Amino acid sequence: MTDEAASLRGPSPRVHCGCKVGSVADRYGLGDVSRELGVLWTTDEEDRYSLRELADHFNQRVVESAMFDAGMNPLEGEVENVYRLLTDEESSAGHRVQAENRLEFEGVSVAEVRDDFVTHQTVYRHLKNCLEAEYERETGPSSRVERDVDRIEALRNRIRVIVDETVRRLCDAGLFSITSPSAYVEIRILCEECGARYSPRELLERDRCDCPVELDR
Ligand SMILES: [Zn+2]
Ligand SMILES: [Zn+2]
Repeated sequence: MTDEAASLRGPSPRVHCGCKVGSVADRYGLGDVSRELGVLWTTDEEDRYSLRELADHFNQRVVESAMFDAGMNPLEGEVENVYRLLTDEESSAGHRVQAENRLEFEGVSVAEVRDDFVTHQTVYRHLKNCLEAEYERETGPSSRVERDVDRIEALRNRIRVIVDETVRRLCDAGLFSITSPSAYVEIRILCEECGARYSPRELLERDRCDCPVELDR
């Protein structure tokens, strides 16, 4: 999970946006799905959702909620199946009508539910306009700097691990001879003006170099 995703998952307040995603989520009582879409979108590459998958995920929640509201008790996989029958062009008209009739019989308004489905374009606008705005507001410049410093330190740690492993391998192969090797990686930011050196974190804490800045040079 990325830092962005982590901070979206944090204890931040629920997103209340006026776009279709937000208003449908409110109407169906879908909890914090508006924010969840952002988390699923920004999460690590392998399990990251595409916009289409996000729209399907959201719409399935709508179907699920409508079914529960009508007193139905969908079984495992049933919501996905009903959603597929309602939306998939490939599914036969017969099966679609059957699914619609069953929902109508139970008291679900299929037309209303369909109207409340969002497209992947709507999801995209929600992510860009509503969540981005929210995210910018929550992460002031200071926490953004902190996140970047964390990123530098993670990188430093990775270099250390790689060097460690390489040296160990060379030792095992008999190409290096050192009893207990341990890599040490330091990252310093040099002020070319006065020669002072800072670790990224030191710089974060003091946010400037001590050397006098001549503004009118
Ligand atoms: Zn929105
Ligand atoms: Zn300086």
